[in-house]
Amino acid sequence: MNYDGWSKKVEDNGAELSNEYFNMQVGLPYSEQKIHELEKKGEELSKYFLDHFKEPEEVYRSSVAGIAGGKTYQLLLKLHDIRKTDVKSEKHKFRDQPVTWTTWRQFVVSAEDKARKEVYDEFVNLVPKISPQIKEFFGTSKVIFEQHNLTPLQNYLLGHKTSYEKIINFLTELRDGVKNKYWQEYTNETQRMLGRPPEYYDDLYFMRNVIFNDLVGKFKGANPLDCVKKTLTNLGLDPSKIHVDDADRPNKYPSPFCSSPRVPQDVRISYKAENPLNDTRSIYHEMGHAIHETHVDPKLPYHERYLYSMGLAETFSQFIESLVANKTYLVEELKLDPELAEEYVRRIKVMELMTVAFYTGNSLFNLKMWHDNVPFEKLDDLYAKEQEQSMNLQIPGAYWQLHHILPENLLYVPSYLLSQANVCEMVEKCQEIGGERWWNDKKAGKYIVSLMKPGTRSPMSDFSNVKPDKLIKELMDF
Ligand SMILES: [Zn+2]
Repeated sequence: MNYDGWSKKVEDNGAELSNEYFNMQVGLPYSEQKIHELEKKGEELSKYFLDHFKEPEEVYRSSVAGIAGGKTYQLLLKLHDIRKTDVKSEKHKFRDQPVTWTTWRQFVVSAEDKARKEVYDEFVNLVPKISPQIKEFFGTSKVIFEQHNLTPLQNYLLGHKTSYEKIINFLTELRDGVKNKYWQEYTNETQRMLGRPPEYYDDLYFMRNVIFNDLVGKFKGANPLDCVKKTLTNLGLDPSKIHVDDADRPNKYPSPFCSSPRVPQDVRISYKAENPLNDTRSIYHEMGHAIHETHVDPKLPYHERYLYSMGLAETFSQFIESLVANKTYLVEELKLDPELAEEYVRRIKVMELMTVAFYTGNSLFNLKMWHDNVPFEKLDDLYAKEQEQSMNLQIPGAYWQLHHILPENLLYVPSYLLSQANVCEMVEKCQEIGGERWWNDKKAGKYIVSLMKPGTRSPMSDFSNVKPDKLIKELMDF
């Protein structure tokens, strides 16, 4: 079998597997047996690649990651189970059941300050229950990467076409650039809502819900799905090939997602209506992923159509989502009341500052732990130190193990910030081409397509020259 034959098999296998997972996630019939068989076949194909080929290098890396994933997915499933059963409050309930890790974020939205603090402290004390799985996940993955002369850090840096020093500089400058403004806005908001300065348990997942609480009921405007489709069409893009599953089935995943069994021919998004405020942002985000993948050149080889870095994938979703943080767009396209739009944008900006503060801390922690080979037992200290720098708060170091991304991914979180820097570049360019209302301009659309069409060879896939200046400026501008 040559590389072309191999890549066709991988693509077919991946398409079938995606389809099964999609059905599972939207609450349609699926086969666990089939998923198991296809996963196994995928792992065999990864092994075959490593035994027979060395290039393309991104396929080599993704095959190593695939084998590591195959060896660790059961550990992660166990982690999910323990979080549901053992990370449980003795003191507080949510919908008549003890609060667990799974219901924690829903609980905090309407909980009293004291109850919120108690559950946070209880969960931090329960972290030793989940640590063994997390430690083994990192340890096993590391060994498999090393057996193939790679590390998770090298894999990440090669995927983003940059170096450790460049990423660290980017993140440190970004952290320092927003520090004062972030703290001032965060303090204003906790004063407004809670009548006191920020505390360690006022985390991002509490803030990003409560900050919009009183706006949810007022948020009535145009249908967000129709609206984003209209915008994409006005830009000269074609959203008609995107399959949208908006049915409300009992077993459907509540969080919206995009799935692409075949790029660019079969791309789907799923969502379940929640409230118009949250739905609007998530529909724009997922449609951003989908419009990207439907506009990749079908003639490109397999790896150039599928193996994106996370930074590149998030660039297009965040780019389309950024429309929802634009007052003019909200008023003219989504038909929001101008005063509401202004207040909504202000609060989005506050949350962006808070997200950047929290994620620079997460990212620097995540990069340094691999680069400096920090033993698992010392990771909590490293986390507390980085977050004290970023968030200006003393956070219990074990909190990172309760996060939904950090303990289940080897290295992922810096991508959010890298792609935000990309988005600033793209918006600036679109404004140059199409003016303030660039979302109605076909020439701006042409520029966007030119970034999507080359797949992994997109000009936006190279993060070696990424600078935080424009992002900092945009974050401070309100
Ligand atoms: Zn995304």
